[in-house]
Amino acid sequence: MGGVGPDAADLGPDDPAELRRLPLDRLRAIRAAAREEEADLSYLRRMLQGRIDILRAELTRRRDGEPPAPPRDAAPEEDDLVGRLSEILRDAPPRVRGSARHLTVRAPRARRYRELVPVVMASELTDLGAHDDAELADARARLVGYEQQLSGRRHAVQRVADAASSEIARRYREGEASVDDLLE
Ligand code: C2E
Ligand code: C2E
Ligand code: C2E
Repeated sequence: MGGVGPDAADLGPDDPAELRRLPLDRLRAIRAAAREEEADLSYLRRMLQGRIDILRAELTRRRDGEPPAPPRDAAPEEDDLVGRLSEILRDAPPRVRGSARHLTVRAPRARRYRELVPVVMASELTDLGAHDDAELADARARLVGYEQQLSGRRHAVQRVADAASSEIARRYREGEASVDDLLE
């Protein structure tokens, strides 16, 4: 996951004083790029979180003395956890209600994030029953590491998007920009 760090200076500044000095076109470009990247990150982050949660559930199940998930060729009805995979991975309804934020769900567009999709998919999850506890714990640790990197970058990207939005809104409030500028 090279280049996915908790710094989004490559997108633009998040410092209000610096943003004040930029032309409106540049602010809009920064905000658009940040929103675009955030949608890429959101998708991967949710994929990772779903997989981490499944691995955690399977490890907990084994620790509690239940047998490992049966191997993949078992009948689906025998295979509780794997059978529920698509359900678990499906977009969960928001856990926090009441937010009116715009939500985009789509596959990543930027190449560096598109390339991460198979990395996330190619985990031991496709056949839980074929792996011992140590392998599943390793896989989980690896995915948690990715998730933290992506969440860190997501924070930084959100800060840039929020800061550019605030500056655009400020210019509108203070009469430096028109309604059309704000809505674009
Ligand atoms: P994070 O991404 O750094 O988020 C930190 C906290 O910011 C979250 O704590 C939550 O209170 C808030 N937050 C982040 N994104 C959003 C959002 O889109 N909307 C709202 N309303 N609040 C948000 P929380 O929920 O305790 O999560 C802690 C960390 O756990 C997150 O760090 C993330 O790395 C991870 N995480 C979040 N959801 C899940 C999940 O469903 N599964 C797994 N495995 N990890 C998760
Ligand atoms: P939500 O809280 O309504 O957030 C909706 C979308 O707004 C998020 O989509 C994200 O793209 C964006 N967003 C969230 N926080 C911020 C922010 O601080 N600044 C900016 N500019 N945008 C922000 P996402 O990531 O796909 O999350 C979808 C929903 O999943 C969130 O809805 C929230 O209900 C839940 N969620 C996501 N991450 C977390 C988390 O870490 N903890 C908790 N508790 N809930 C989370
Ligand atoms: P929450 O909406 O569940 O957000 C939890 C944490 O996610 C926030 O902690 C913040 O770290 C991050 N977060 C969520 N939405 C945004 C966002 O739009 N922009 C940014 N930059 N970060 C976001 P925080 O700031 O300590 O807020 C804790 C709780 O206080 C929030 O929970 C929310 O219920 C309330 N809150 C804080 N600021 C505002 C605000 O400006 N308006 C409203 N209506 N509520 C706020």
